[in-house]
Amino acid sequence: MAFVCLKDDKAIYSFHYALKDWIALKEDKHASFKMSCCHTPAILKTSKLGTQFFSHKAKPKDTDCSSGGETAEHIHIKYLVSKTLFECGWDVQVEKRGVSSKGEEWIADIYATKGKAKIAIEVQWSPQAFIETKRRQQVYKDSGVRGLWLLRSGSIKDRNAITCDYLYKTKEVPVFSVYKNKKEAGSSYKVFNVNQEGAEESLTHDRFEPIALDLEDFISKMMSSQIKFYAKYSPTSELFLKIIEQTCWACKRDINVVALVGYKNANYGVPYEDCRYAEHITDCSDRTIRVINENFAQTYGFAPLKSMYSKTMGGRFMSNSCPHCGVLMGKFFISQAFIDARYDECVVETHSIHIPRLPIEINGKEVEIDFERGEWVMINE
Ligand SMILES: [Zn+2]
Ligand SMILES: [Zn+2]
Repeated sequence: MAFVCLKDDKAIYSFHYALKDWIALKEDKHASFKMSCCHTPAILKTSKLGTQFFSHKAKPKDTDCSSGGETAEHIHIKYLVSKTLFECGWDVQVEKRGVSSKGEEWIADIYATKGKAKIAIEVQWSPQAFIETKRRQQVYKDSGVRGLWLLRSGSIKDRNAITCDYLYKTKEVPVFSVYKNKKEAGSSYKVFNVNQEGAEESLTHDRFEPIALDLEDFISKMMSSQIKFYAKYSPTSELFLKIIEQTCWACKRDINVVALVGYKNANYGVPYEDCRYAEHITDCSDRTIRVINENFAQTYGFAPLKSMYSKTMGGRFMSNSCPHCGVLMGKFFISQAFIDARYDECVVETHSIHIPRLPIEINGKEVEIDFERGEWVMINE
């Protein structure tokens, strides 16, 4: 099944034609149609699934003319993708050949261009290991082409073929699953591995819920950036402090102390604040303490935070101290003073500075953040 043929020696594509025009083309007795593969006469056909295609009038002698034993469904999906791309204003070619900058050859199921954008869409019918998909994606990248993968799923139980290694979802390798319930009459191809925004209250955690889109809808949304990739973790945080005034218990002078260390992070693009109160300044890494002392201490007039011995606590802790007489300012007193200061609205919030995002903590252990991972999300306009 070919989507391209030569009409009076000019290439035409079957997916450019609405059914009515396709029928009219079949009735055009004056035109000559030749297969583009071997230039032998072509006939126009419409499959039961609705694929419009060109076929050799006589059985081809040349083995290069075979479509490689692809199933009618596989071809139909390629047809629908090509047609949708065309309708979205892309220039579409099928089975396009190319070579990467490293000399690796590729044949794209569907290749499309629009302005400077070049894309390849692969409809993967037989199972393909994730590392192979990743490798082939790199070949496209080395050719200046953005690859997109549609993995076929064969059963209702495993409609979403995005499992195992494919769960490593990154912007680098866009992979989706395509499935059609053949037992359901008139059902369409559904694409999985897209999410939509969930309920407001779950914004920072499980912000999204998985959805399935019709194949054509998926392609047009993907091409118009209505489906976007959201990395789970923002690569940077904004660090800010809340400062209060307190009276030094020893010298009775008014001093400034750090009552809170706050981080403005974003998960899936949604900002949220992560706050460490005076009690937890102890938890800040040495690097963070250094950043705080260098960027804020002088400007906001507090004594640089430092590790001090607390008799009450019986150990050394990262603490506030009096800039005049140097005594340690107990964290519990600061916390109490912070509550009062908030009540009296005399808390000073500092400006914020950008810092690389700190590792997250899971069960008290620091875990390195993977900034690549994320989810594909349908944007509600
Ligand atoms: Zn041929
Ligand atoms: Zn003092």
